[in-house]
Amino acid sequence: MAQAQATPMMKQYKEIKAQHEDAFLFFRLGDFYELFHEDALLAAKELEITLTQRGKGDDGVPMCGVPHHSSEQYISRLIDLGYKVAVCEQVENPQEAKGVVKREVVQVITPGTVMNGKAVREEANQFAVSIAEQNGTWSVSAADLTTGEWSACELESAEEAVNEALSYEPKEIIVAADTETVLKQALSARTSAAVSAYELEEQGEEVLFQDLSTPVLKRSAGMLLHYFHETTKRDLAHLQTVKPYEAAQYLQLDHHSKRNLEITESLMERTKKGSLLSVIDRTGTAMGARKLKRWLERPSLNKKQIEKRHGLTGKFIEHFMERKELQELLKQVYDLERLSGRVAFGTVNGRDLVQLKKSLQQMPGITALLKPLGNSYADELLPLLDAPAGLVELLDASIKEDCPVSVTEGGLICDGYNEQLDEYRDAMTNGRSWIAGLETEERQKTGIRSLKIGYNKVFGYYIEVSRPNLHLLQEGRYERKQTLSNAERFITPELKEKEAVILEAEEKSGELEYQLFTEVRDQVKQHIRLIQQIAESVSILDVLQGFAETAEERQYTKPVLTTDKKVEITESRHPVVETMADDGSYVPNSITLHKDREMLLITGPNMAGKSTYMRQLALSVILCQAGSYVPADSCEMMVFDKIFTRIGAADDLAQGQSTFMVEMSETRRAVEGAGEKSLILLDEIGRGTSTYDGMSLAQAVVEYIHDHLKAMTLFSTHYHELTALEKSLDNLVNVHVSAVEENGELTFLHRVVDGAADRSYGIHVARLARLPEALIRRADELLSAHESESAVRTEKKEKQPDYQEAVQIPLFPEEDPASAVVEELKQADILNMTPIQAMQFLDELRRKASREEKP
Ligand code: ADP
Repeated sequence: MAQAQATPMMKQYKEIKAQHEDAFLFFRLGDFYELFHEDALLAAKELEITLTQRGKGDDGVPMCGVPHHSSEQYISRLIDLGYKVAVCEQVENPQEAKGVVKREVVQVITPGTVMNGKAVREEANQFAVSIAEQNGTWSVSAADLTTGEWSACELESAEEAVNEALSYEPKEIIVAADTETVLKQALSARTSAAVSAYELEEQGEEVLFQDLSTPVLKRSAGMLLHYFHETTKRDLAHLQTVKPYEAAQYLQLDHHSKRNLEITESLMERTKKGSLLSVIDRTGTAMGARKLKRWLERPSLNKKQIEKRHGLTGKFIEHFMERKELQELLKQVYDLERLSGRVAFGTVNGRDLVQLKKSLQQMPGITALLKPLGNSYADELLPLLDAPAGLVELLDASIKEDCPVSVTEGGLICDGYNEQLDEYRDAMTNGRSWIAGLETEERQKTGIRSLKIGYNKVFGYYIEVSRPNLHLLQEGRYERKQTLSNAERFITPELKEKEAVILEAEEKSGELEYQLFTEVRDQVKQHIRLIQQIAESVSILDVLQGFAETAEERQYTKPVLTTDKKVEITESRHPVVETMADDGSYVPNSITLHKDREMLLITGPNMAGKSTYMRQLALSVILCQAGSYVPADSCEMMVFDKIFTRIGAADDLAQGQSTFMVEMSETRRAVEGAGEKSLILLDEIGRGTSTYDGMSLAQAVVEYIHDHLKAMTLFSTHYHELTALEKSLDNLVNVHVSAVEENGELTFLHRVVDGAADRSYGIHVARLARLPEALIRRADELLSAHESESAVRTEKKEKQPDYQEAVQIPLFPEEDPASAVVEELKQADILNMTPIQAMQFLDELRRKASREEKP
């Protein structure tokens, strides 16, 4: 065995590393954390630090290290890259150790459990989620360790569980070991979050789980709790009771729709800029920013709750002065959720506690502003804003406003808070002033004006006389201690006496200050629940004042929620696109939908504004149900339960799925999941395949939704032929986005009007692009020929047909469904399918086959 590896310390290293295979082991050696072997090779590359070697020649072990005091930035970088870091400390005093110093891993930092540093983004939650299954029921549990929020829900399938888990944009995903094969691939195809399998041991009863009613909920929550305890090895007093919820409690919006609608980040750059969030966010606190993001991602379904939010937003609009004052006060409120997290975690420092005090001191002001508003929602929040009794006073009396970051080096406890500490401080002050006095005195006595008293860690206090002045010094006056090139340093017995007093007082006061600090911290810990409650209320107020700010600035209107099936928005605008056209060039459009007008078939040339029109409805629904006003002149609308979108997205291909397959999967999700209260947006369905194929599918989808789902639907299409469906489908109405030709140029008016579009735009545009006239004429000829051959069958049906009948309208030569199934089976690339894809494929075949068997 290599010599370096054989040392007792390397043996200890190996034993510890063996328990933390999946993490970088930061092994404490004096003032450094060292990494060895594979860890060192990878860390040197990722952190761009120098790789060295422990031991000589061929026996050497690769090694690299980072200084202990600046380790946080290196750890943050690794966490950001998705790695885990196990921090191994010396847990006994090296001076007292017999043999190798005892070392232990004191914390494993992972992307989902990191508590500080750059990896923790202020304006976003940092969720770790877990997925478990029991007797066919699935459960997802999501917790943010930095704030203590925690919730769990039950779901019916693995696919739903994956969607729900991803909706949290988790930093880390823990899957039950028995579900690993089903989930891991499905997850890693759609997220860069670290996925680890976890073996759950026996699940005990937990107070935090008191509201969870089923074993599967407890199982997913239990996995997270165990994982947190195992990695952090801390008291997690700030974790809140797990809140059970049903996915159906919120407006359901799958992961794809969220991305496509650019709710919290833009599709291309994946940044907040260009998203709905960027336009609407006027929050002043980090807590408010996170709450807003959550509300936009999970709009409410509860009419009363939505109206409450609209109501208080309205009050904030009416009361401009109060709103401005509230904004000023909110600037003084720090991140109470994360402060409480740090209190529980034991990483809080003096400055954090000063921030806590300042934040709590704003509460009476906020309460005084809210009271006169006379709003029932504000009145509900008021009592929740009261600071815990005596806490502000305690913090004010104990922690210095200008305290240092370090909690171990003194200088953070106020004078007058503790008698003993005051005595130590007096001793130090007296000692220091005696020394200062000595300097003046000795200068006078010796006549050496440059004589000075200094201090260093090795020799303590000394008197320094420069070489040219040495002859002025009376022999034997001081005791010589150190010779420098241009000066001599001396001491005296009195000086050393005073020094001993000062140093002792310093040491003792440092220890005492730390002890007093931890006592204060523990007292704060008793109030974590109340602080979290304040944080919750402040974040709500912050979001709503922000809604008011945007509503006023961008002239949004208060939506009126109806119980009947209806959308009536006049002069609606796209909240994001309109900000990019701030010159007033944005063209507002009205949208009317009701039970006799459930479906709009939208035609018009490319770039006319079809998809913008569809998106603006979805975004208005989301804004409305999140509690905000909406960009329009007036708005009446129902509460939607789900939104499904099929809007072309750039990242489809990046995920290795063909665009058409994605298109069909998203369409399937819509037709399977939507109901009467849902909103479906389908943009150019069928574009990804051949014309007749695509057109047939598009028509079948329209008919299916119209006849079976009755969901409110906007369907844009370039198949002009489909506009004939207006005749056969009672609740479908044609609208088009108008464009005109002026001086040989096509001008988009972006106006949505009833009726079908003029269909000849494609060839028209080709003509404008000055393609050869002969070519254009040929295209015209071909178009006429195609049109006469392929008129869409839209005869009024005598009776309402069932789905089988509808799909059998022969738009193209009939194909034997059985042979189609066989053909698909032959072509299937089973080896390249994920388990979920394989199940979907099988299900698809089953459907096809069973259709064939039905009469
Ligand atoms: P389509 O879906 O018909 O191809 P888009 O909805 O993508 O067209 O719109 C194309 C561009 O037209 C958008 O990027 C936007 O800049 C502009 N646009 C769309 N609707 C409007 C509108 N109502 N007012 C002003 N500009 C618009």
